[in-house]
Amino acid sequence: MVNIFNIFRKKTKDPSELWQETEMLLKPYEKPMWAPKVGNSEVSYLFSKFSGKAALVAKETWPACKRCKSPMQLLVQLNAKQFPAEMKSPFGEGILQLFCCEQCSKGLEDIKELPEISLVRVLDPKTQDLTGVESLPKTFSTPEKPIEGWEESVDYPNTAKLKSLGCDLKVDQAALLTEKGFPKVQDKLMGWPNWVQGIKYPKCSQCGSAMKLVIQIAPQDNLNIELPGGQCMHVIQCDKHKSEIVVV
Ligand SMILES: [Zn+2]
Ligand SMILES: [Zn+2]
Repeated sequence: MVNIFNIFRKKTKDPSELWQETEMLLKPYEKPMWAPKVGNSEVSYLFSKFSGKAALVAKETWPACKRCKSPMQLLVQLNAKQFPAEMKSPFGEGILQLFCCEQCSKGLEDIKELPEISLVRVLDPKTQDLTGVESLPKTFSTPEKPIEGWEESVDYPNTAKLKSLGCDLKVDQAALLTEKGFPKVQDKLMGWPNWVQGIKYPKCSQCGSAMKLVIQIAPQDNLNIELPGGQCMHVIQCDKHKSEIVVV
């Protein structure tokens, strides 16, 4: 008599073997991602950081929320000059800043409302007169955390995205991809965005192409930020048109 359990046993692969086999299939869709390493030293207003004191354009007032008019928290500031040599800046030159209203983000019903309570921009120290602030306009929940380095690893898209790209994983391979936590839900530069399924994300208004992930901010990683459904915040940009940069 055939023992049905033995048949299953033969078919079940060792997880490391299964992952090796899955990684081979994923190879063409692999993207580098960079995780920030934060410190706690005092840094200048031009430094890459989470939260704290942002660089402002001379005579500018601290960016305010369009909805409640109160000052927004600096979520992240990235100075392209501080990226390691082996890492090409994901947004070009200058200083990228992402601000968001901490208060309004708590009551946000739909992630689509994010542009109304946030601001993303790239400052150009070559043409703009930049300055620091003496003190923050109000107290924010996350203290300033300087970004002192970046750690490279690889990232993969989720199974739905893979399928749309022509890579149809088997059930056990798909389960392992999810179990390994891809695409990574953490603060990261580049890699694959952890999108919410069923939402249409904006394309470049100039050329219509899909925009690339610059940075993903995950809930409760380096920042004390909470979005509806525990979703991540993304800054995406057109590769060709650098001025096409949005927060979603
Ligand atoms: Zn607000
Ligand atoms: Zn474009």
